[in-house]
Amino acid sequence: MSQNLRENEVAVTAAPPTDAALRFIGHIRTPFTSRALCPRQGRPDGPECRLVLRAPWAAGLAGLERFEFAEVLYWLHESRRDLVLQSPKSDGAVRGVFSLRSPVRPNPIGLARVAILRIEGPEVIVRGLDCLDGTPLIDLKPDHCAYTVAAPDKPADRAP
Ligand code: SAM
Repeated sequence: MSQNLRENEVAVTAAPPTDAALRFIGHIRTPFTSRALCPRQGRPDGPECRLVLRAPWAAGLAGLERFEFAEVLYWLHESRRDLVLQSPKSDGAVRGVFSLRSPVRPNPIGLARVAILRIEGPEVIVRGLDCLDGTPLIDLKPDHCAYTVAAPDKPADRAP
């Protein structure tokens, strides 16, 4: 895609994406129906959103209720994937994609730390997301585990 470039932005022609095959484990329900309505980043006091697991992955939620927070990975499916230099402010000043949290990236994976409010069957209700309604869900991880490296001044984390 070489159209719709902002001043000084650079698009590239990338190799075909044949080196990984993701399995979407569900989708995300949010109140955000357009990109313009999404926050730039999720907020702890943002609206309730739902991670809807599809069969057979709902069984994988067992044990998640012990955690207050999780990290969610999602596929920013409406993003273009070819901009190596981007102008976030549309002012001609460009930055490399890997210095930005822009949704426009070669592999448009979004990452958010969310608060887990409750679990209802195959759905996890959370706060802290910034994605479009219907965004595909890639993965969900508790935000710490027994092997989390503790900060030097903190005791080791004993959660499983
Ligand atoms: N929190 C994630 C991160 O840091 O990796 C994503 C941050 S990105 C700046 C969030 C923006 O991506 C939203 O404000 C919206 O403009 C855009 N966005 C949200 N859902 C999207 C989707 N499914 N496809 C493309 N763009 C999306």
